[in-house]
Amino acid sequence: MGARLGFVCCLLFVQILPGVFCWGKEGHYVTCKIAQKLFTEDADAAVKKLLPGHAEGDLAGLCSWPDEIRHQYKWRWTGPLHYIDTPDFKCNYDCCRDCHDSHHHKDRCVAGAIYNYSTQLTAYNDPEHLQSYNLTEALLFLSHFMGDIHQPLHVGFTGDEGGNTIIVRWYRRKTNLHHVWDNMIIESALKKFYDSDISVMIKAIQQDIQEGKSADIPPWGNCKSNHTVCSNPYASESIGLACKYAYRNATPGSTLGDEYFLDRLPIVEKRLAQGGVRLAATLNRIFTSPTTISTT
Ligand SMILES: [Zn+2]
Repeated sequence: MGARLGFVCCLLFVQILPGVFCWGKEGHYVTCKIAQKLFTEDADAAVKKLLPGHAEGDLAGLCSWPDEIRHQYKWRWTGPLHYIDTPDFKCNYDCCRDCHDSHHHKDRCVAGAIYNYSTQLTAYNDPEHLQSYNLTEALLFLSHFMGDIHQPLHVGFTGDEGGNTIIVRWYRRKTNLHHVWDNMIIESALKKFYDSDISVMIKAIQQDIQEGKSADIPPWGNCKSNHTVCSNPYASESIGLACKYAYRNATPGSTLGDEYFLDRLPIVEKRLAQGGVRLAATLNRIFTSPTTISTT
């Protein structure tokens, strides 16, 4: 594997920060279901071994766990790991500038967390370090954050907290722009196109991937220079999409309806697919060979 770069050690601080929500339950479920289908035999076996018994071998059922626990006192420090705040109206991501929490602790953002938990998971093949981490938690956090980083507004402007403070109407319902991208677009799509059945939506997205509907699918899971994990480009894509699609025509007080929904749904479905493909690719690399983790 590529050159070993600096180890991201960012999970030591306990602090309370305001909550920002994530891809809803459905979004995380879809991303993880897509990933599971793409696991190598080694990755599939490792994931099944790490999952708690009650999961019955199904990672997707636990992919929202980091959202369920984040407001508990013990886990409040994980709040900033779900997103990245970028400078207002910049439309780009710079890890040194942007990957920190509100107290400027470095690497405490979703891109840093993906790197950190991937690094922890490499201990699976390294008996010497196996006892240092809770690899079940690392697997669940990595799987969840790989979803979050693909939600464009999880890499959004600081001033509006990634769209959380932009109040809009989704059809008749009052909500905020972040929630539209976490939940409402997916929920409306389920009702309108997928018979309110999430497995139908997942199958449709899987078919798009198999048929290569997007010309650029094969490189989705690759990292430059054979790196094991590469979360920074995903964050750059997200803020680009946030500017181009999420924030556009969604000013405070606006009503978002068919025009916005139908134009943005393909973006949401592509990001769910990319999250799944990249989670699988990352876990396949981690579990398939003893590795020194490397990143961009
Ligand atoms: Zn989250």
